[in-house]
Amino acid sequence: MEFLQKLKTQGFRLTKPREDIIKVLKGYPHTVLEIFEELKHRGCTVDLASVYRSLDLFEKMNLVQVIELGEGRKRYELISEGHHHHHLVCDKCGTIEDVEIKEEMILNEVSKKTHFKIQKHTLEFFGLCINCQH
Ligand SMILES: [Zn+2]
Ligand SMILES: [Zn+2]
Repeated sequence: MEFLQKLKTQGFRLTKPREDIIKVLKGYPHTVLEIFEELKHRGCTVDLASVYRSLDLFEKMNLVQVIELGEGRKRYELISEGHHHHHLVCDKCGTIEDVEIKEEMILNEVSKKTHFKIQKHTLEFFGLCINCQH
């Protein structure tokens, strides 16, 4: 697992909770509370404060990034290198899917119009997933 390898090479001890947090995040972007609940569910005894600490650490190490999907709370997502993507959020069941799109045209248009030097952007989509459309 590349994420666990990264932790090790940077001299961090790979504790069970840290390993489990990475595993949980492999599914989809979770909130802190969701991670906490999932860890408990897996029988991993850890307090909320250390979940926060681990996530801070992961963020500083560029293993994890914070995303905002308009819910007013942060979600944590594993950063997979070279795979910039956006999210499809189902308003009904809350499923979060990734989507990669060709966005050079949009970015170029914004730069041209505004002369703004874009360093990053977020673009998320909200609606109904396939299962919820019936
Ligand atoms: Zn993008
Ligand atoms: Zn749905």
